[in-house]
Amino acid sequence: MTYFDTIIIGGGPAGMMAAISSSFYGQKTLLIEKNRRLGKKLAGTGGGRCNVTNSGTLEDVMAGIPGNGRFLYSVFSQFDNHDIIAFFKDNGVALKEEDHGRVFPKTDKSKTIIQALEKKIAELGGQVLTQTEVVSVKKRDELFYVKSQTESFTAAKLIVTTGGKSYPSTGSTGFGYEIARHFKLHVTDLEAAESPLLTDFPHKALQGISLTDVTLSCGKHHITHDLLFTHFGLSGPAALRMSSFVSGGEVIELDLLPDMSHDELLVLFEESRDKAIKNVLKSLMPERLADFIAQPFPQKIKQVPKHQITELIERVKAMPIPVTGKMSLAKSFVTKGGVDLKEINPKTLESKKVSGLHFAGEVLDINAHTGGFNITSALCTGWVAGAVHY
Ligand SMILES: Cc1cc2nc3c(=O)[nH]c(=O)nc-3n(C[C@H](O)[C@H](O)[C@H](O)COP(=O)(O)OP(=O)(O)OC[C@H]3O[C@@H](n4cnc5c(N)ncnc54)[C@H](O)[C@@H]3O)c2cc1C
Repeated sequence: MTYFDTIIIGGGPAGMMAAISSSFYGQKTLLIEKNRRLGKKLAGTGGGRCNVTNSGTLEDVMAGIPGNGRFLYSVFSQFDNHDIIAFFKDNGVALKEEDHGRVFPKTDKSKTIIQALEKKIAELGGQVLTQTEVVSVKKRDELFYVKSQTESFTAAKLIVTTGGKSYPSTGSTGFGYEIARHFKLHVTDLEAAESPLLTDFPHKALQGISLTDVTLSCGKHHITHDLLFTHFGLSGPAALRMSSFVSGGEVIELDLLPDMSHDELLVLFEESRDKAIKNVLKSLMPERLADFIAQPFPQKIKQVPKHQITELIERVKAMPIPVTGKMSLAKSFVTKGGVDLKEINPKTLESKKVSGLHFAGEVLDINAHTGGFNITSALCTGWVAGAVHY
């Protein structure tokens, strides 16, 4: 049975970074991943371009992690989003920043990020075993025994980075929760987070339209971000963030032009009296959406009674969209809930009950918004979990 100082189960961003820091600190390290390749979920983020982190301040990053972000203060004091950016630059990856502080590789290819992480693990002497699913973990006489279908390994330290339960086709099927329960650690209730919204709306007409910085409102909650109409309803950051505040049965409102007031729009329509409504709207939003809104008014603005223009502006500023539900956990981007943080030392990410057992990434009860915040949490907790050695 081969011995390692550290074994890491799960080769997502948390596991890869844990393998890097563990190897960096001189630990004989093994990273075990069941997929053929590392970072399958990571590769699909940011529309396949890999939204590797967010460039914001600590305050911005905390605001991006609504699910127990405060637990991470200690982690971020050791390794934060700026360290992620420096890490990739130092390892020859040119990065670029886009809207809302989202950071991507300049190549626009996830491969660039994953290859850089793989190369660093290899350079530092870490070993990687892919196509190997861990099926059981035990601890006896201060040693962890890790078994796959065909092999067994031992280690003094075990890091669990198996991810959550969303998008199980990427490999994250929740095995880490079983490990936690095996060691009698509490796992909080698992729920869908960052879920696309199902709506009762003319999906076909609007499918594929994406909008930049529009505002979704539901009661006291107002979210201004990008939005995407899909064949089932709404996706994109604004919808995913709104999913924390709705469950189905609400009517949310969409402000298509949050930067223009009702009165400013009224003035614009008055100044464009000789134009068709459709053409005025087209200058403000995607053509297909303008067509959809202007459908009931084929005539020129001057031919439409003023109260109807007012109604039209109200529709543009507060389009009612009935929400019928949310996507399931499996089809949501992130898992809310996980290994209870009360059981974990925030400085080392080690279990308070079981010495040598660490958790990092989405398996923990931490959930963040898309936009690089989950990946930041995964990479930073991964680094910290890997950095502790005995
Ligand atoms: C479509 C999509 C888009 C997203 N976009 C963003 C975004 O833009 N920004 C953002 O911040 N977050 C985004 N996320 C979330 C983000 O990708 C995850 O939070 C992040 O990947 C979690 O990292 P992790 O290392 O904890 O787990 P994962 O990336 O899930 O990796 C866990 C790994 O463990 C392996 N594993 C599990 N069980 C075993 C086992 N028994 N044996 C061996 N290996 C095992 C899995 O195969 C997997 O590779 C997105 C998620 C999805 C699904």
